[in-house]
Amino acid sequence: MASRLYRDAAIVLRTYRLGESDRIVVFLTENHGKVRAVAKGIRKTRSRFGGRLEPLSYVNVQLHRGSSLDVVSQVETIDASSAVYGDLDAMTEASAVLEAVDRLVPDQEPVPQTFRMLLGVRRTLIERPSPLVVPAFLWKLLAAEGVRPELDQCVGCGADESADHPFVAFDTVRGGVQCRSCRTGGTIGADALALLRDLLGGKLGAVLDAAHDPSGQRLGDPIVNEVADLATRSFEAHVEKRLRSLGIFERHDGA
Ligand SMILES: [Zn+2]
Repeated sequence: MASRLYRDAAIVLRTYRLGESDRIVVFLTENHGKVRAVAKGIRKTRSRFGGRLEPLSYVNVQLHRGSSLDVVSQVETIDASSAVYGDLDAMTEASAVLEAVDRLVPDQEPVPQTFRMLLGVRRTLIERPSPLVVPAFLWKLLAAEGVRPELDQCVGCGADESADHPFVAFDTVRGGVQCRSCRTGGTIGADALALLRDLLGGKLGAVLDAAHDPSGQRLGDPIVNEVADLATRSFEAHVEKRLRSLGIFERHDGA
């Protein structure tokens, strides 16, 4: 009989209370995908898990396969996340990142690429938190799902951008920029569009450097907010669309 114990590297996505003294911990593991497991006795004062299973914790975990939920048997910290806990903004950003992964990733389906992306964004959140980290991560998650917004041609008429044919809107459902005559989505400014192109072009590092450089041009909050809002709405549109297609699939399947 195969061993019911397994080990994996994991990042804690969230935890919730179970009964008097236990918690269910949702992990994104490196090789086993998203796993829900019970940490028994974790809410007792002298729990053997200590504070090692907080959201964003990066740990080596040993799990015991159960019939419905797995059970956490050992935890070793690989890298503590305490730097983030003192910083309210970084904590908010971390929550948004963890929630997005939790919503997007199905249970027990290995997603090593998403794990690596989460590990990377976790490092960025610890070392140089910024309001741009979450939108950049959401776009990366979407890109990994094969969803990439169209930024170079109007999604209505297919025309390129030019001085007398500027892109003025972004439609999250159609997934791209629009010119004035095709416009159905919300407004997007030229600066926000430029920032979005940088983020999607993999230039988050350079953008963060520029934002930290006192001599460089600082990114105004309205532009960052615009891009963040667009990322959130595009993410929501994608999750909704996927849930809908899943619903149709299940109906056919059950008939
Ligand atoms: Zn157009």
